[in-house]
Amino acid sequence: MYFREQTKSVLVGNVQIGGHNKVVIQSMTNTDTCNIEKTLEQIYQLSEAGCEIVRVAIPNIEAAKAIKKLKDKSPLPIVADIHFDYKLALEAMDNGIDKIRINPGNIGSNQKVKEVVEKAKTYHVPIRIGVNSGSIERELLKKYGHPTAEAMVESAEKHIQILEEFDFQDIVVSLKASNVPLSIRAYQLMAEKYSYPLHVGITEAGTVYQGSIKSAVGLGAILSLGIGDTIRVSLTGDPVEEIKVAKSILKSLQLFEPGPELISCPTCGRCQIQLIDLANRVEQEIQHLKKPLKVAVMGCAVNGPGEAREADIGLAGGHGEGLIFKKGKVVRKVKEDELFEEFMKELRSL
Ligand code: SF4
Repeated sequence: MYFREQTKSVLVGNVQIGGHNKVVIQSMTNTDTCNIEKTLEQIYQLSEAGCEIVRVAIPNIEAAKAIKKLKDKSPLPIVADIHFDYKLALEAMDNGIDKIRINPGNIGSNQKVKEVVEKAKTYHVPIRIGVNSGSIERELLKKYGHPTAEAMVESAEKHIQILEEFDFQDIVVSLKASNVPLSIRAYQLMAEKYSYPLHVGITEAGTVYQGSIKSAVGLGAILSLGIGDTIRVSLTGDPVEEIKVAKSILKSLQLFEPGPELISCPTCGRCQIQLIDLANRVEQEIQHLKKPLKVAVMGCAVNGPGEAREADIGLAGGHGEGLIFKKGKVVRKVKEDELFEEFMKELRSL
C-alpha cells in the first residue's frame, strides 16, 4: 500500500489528473506537429500502447493551427507545449487544445498573461507550469549558486503566484531535472507546500536502456512517497517505449495499472529449458492484455512450482519439458518445443 498525497483534481479533456484518481501516463510526439498524418499515426500508436494524454510541440503559429485537425481525430486529450510566445497559447486554445504547458513568468507583460488566463478560464483549459533545472531564472541561480531543489520550487512559486493573482487555480506543476536526487528533493518540497497536482518526470534521462533505469529509480522513489499524479518517462527513442516503461513502473508499485504482471526468474545452472527466450516471447504476447493477471515463467523445480502456483498461470521448467500451473494446480506436463504455444493457449483461456 502506498499513501498518495491528496491533491487538487484537474480535468484535461476527459481525463482527471490528481485528487483520488490513478496516476495518468503521458508522452510527447516527436513528429512535426504540422504533419497531421504522421502526428496522428504516432498518437494512435501511443494510445494503443496505453498512453492517456499526449503532448505536442507548438513552435510556431502553423503548429498551433494544426491542433484543430489533430483534435478532430485524436483519441487522446492533447497538451500544447509552448515556450514564451503567448500568441501561440491563445491560438492553441482557439483551436481546441485540452491543456497548455507554459510558464506565465516567461510570457512578458501582465496584459499578455491576463489574455492567456482569461482564455484558459473561458475554455476550461488547465495550465502546466514546467520548471526545468536547466532553465532556472538568473536571479535564483545567483541566490542559490546553482539549480537546487529550493531554487526549482521558488521558480515554480513565482509562476504559481502570477496565475493565482489572476484567480486561476487550474494548475499542474512539474519540476524536472536530469539529476535524480535533485528531482526527488524538489518534488518532496513542492508536495509539502502545495496541493496542485504534480506531473513527474526525470528529464533528458537518456537512451531507452539508461533512461528507463534512471526514470524507474527517480519516478519510483517519488511515487513511492505518495507524490505524483501524472508521469512522463523521457527517452531518446520511440515514444511508445516511454509508455511501456511508464506502465512497468506503475505496475511495480501496484499503482492500479491494469494488465498482466510477469514474474520470471533470472535463470541459473539448474535451468534446462530456453527460459530467456520463452519469457521474452510471453512478455511480448501479453503486453497489450488489459486483464490483471499474475503470470510466472520459471526455470526449474527449485523456486518454479512455488511461484507458478501463486500466479494465476505459471510454468516451471524441467529437463526438456515444463509443468503448466493454473490457479495453483498443475494442469499438464508439456515438451519444451510445445511449451510456449500450450502455455499461451491456457493463458488465453483465462
Ligand atoms: Fe535457477 Fe530455478 Fe531459481 Fe530459475 S527458478 S533461478 S532456474 S533455481
